[in-house]
Amino acid sequence: MMPTHLRIRRRSFLGLLFLFSLSTSALYFIYSAPGIVNEYLFAVQARSIQIRKNVKTIGAQVLEQVVRGAYSINVTDYSYDFNFSESDAPPTAYLPEGFTFLPSQICPERHSSMKGRLEVNMSEVSLEEVERSLLKHQSSIAPGGYWKPKDCLPRWKVAILVPFRNRHEHLPILLRHLVPVLQKQRLQFAFYVIEQEGTEPFNRAMLFNVGFKEAMKDLDWDCLIFHDVDHLMENDRNYYGCTDMPRHFAVKLNKYSYMLPYHEFFGGVSGLTVKQFKKINGFPNAFWGWGGEDDDLWNRVQFANYTVSRPHGEQGRYMSIPHHHRGEVQFLGRYSLLRHSKERQKVDGLNNLNYSPLISRRPLYTNITVSLSRKLAPVADY
Ligand code: UDP
Ligand code: MN
Repeated sequence: MMPTHLRIRRRSFLGLLFLFSLSTSALYFIYSAPGIVNEYLFAVQARSIQIRKNVKTIGAQVLEQVVRGAYSINVTDYSYDFNFSESDAPPTAYLPEGFTFLPSQICPERHSSMKGRLEVNMSEVSLEEVERSLLKHQSSIAPGGYWKPKDCLPRWKVAILVPFRNRHEHLPILLRHLVPVLQKQRLQFAFYVIEQEGTEPFNRAMLFNVGFKEAMKDLDWDCLIFHDVDHLMENDRNYYGCTDMPRHFAVKLNKYSYMLPYHEFFGGVSGLTVKQFKKINGFPNAFWGWGGEDDDLWNRVQFANYTVSRPHGEQGRYMSIPHHHRGEVQFLGRYSLLRHSKERQKVDGLNNLNYSPLISRRPLYTNITVSLSRKLAPVADY
């Protein structure tokens, strides 16, 4: 029989060991799968927001009954707006069905073919299949996924930039979904898929900078849309032209319970005019791995005195394709970088970027393959 004090000690040692292994595996999980952890934390937060909202709505309904009772208001002749929920898109005019306009006129922003709510098809499909079906119906799509309307003059020339590595099942789903929408919106557009090669951590922001520089060699684009490969819009009135740029398009994501995770959120799908993008010196190049680069872009936009605009109500809804694989490792250095967004803006971005791209023109997009490393974007002291 072991003396009691030893037994207790061993038990507490085992307990400590257990706690230690639990916490290290939790930390490892947070580090290696930041996307999943974020989603989970947000789901918990969203549930409590939802509950509070419901309580508010119930409160409003009770109030409504009391007011109606007190003034004996007849429901039919008096209507008071007790609805606390966000109202839908303003009753703005979309052109009526069959409205014709001249090929010499600028395309409308609210074409009659933009119907609102979209069917989202996430079923897997091969790129060849999407090429076949899009090129059959719309033979006017030129290599690189380039298209422009024929029945009017496009209001905006829009380059869609997609950062990419090893998401081959996502790309055809995105193209199948987005190409017909952009055609309905009567935009002139092309797709650029910027693919990171090699084993360095993924650098979404630097890929966007590369994509911008390469796209501008093709054509004098007006607007740049920075588009995650796994984001599918749910509403075709979410117009990808650039009136109120800088714009954040992906406001309400299914994985965040259709709520903006935080006010400064600028991820998923965003857009700037060429002039705005140059003014803020593009994206930062210093964010390797998951997270932070979108927040830095938000900061840059603020320092340039822009106010980010967002689509209204239901128009900003997106679904994201569930990932099959583990995402990128979390970039732990992002907080210290974000503290110096302002100083770094001048020395890290479009102006310190070097790269050697491999470009190939495919039927539905231009592929830009680059190998990235830290020495390609040296940062001077700041
Ligand atoms: N991405 C990619 N391959 C990767 C990591 C990221 O192609 O290994 C691109 C892709 O366009 C993706 C975007 O970067 O939509 C953002 O990354 P991710 O979807 O992993 O971020 P999360 O949705 O988890 O925030
Ligand atoms: Mn994603």
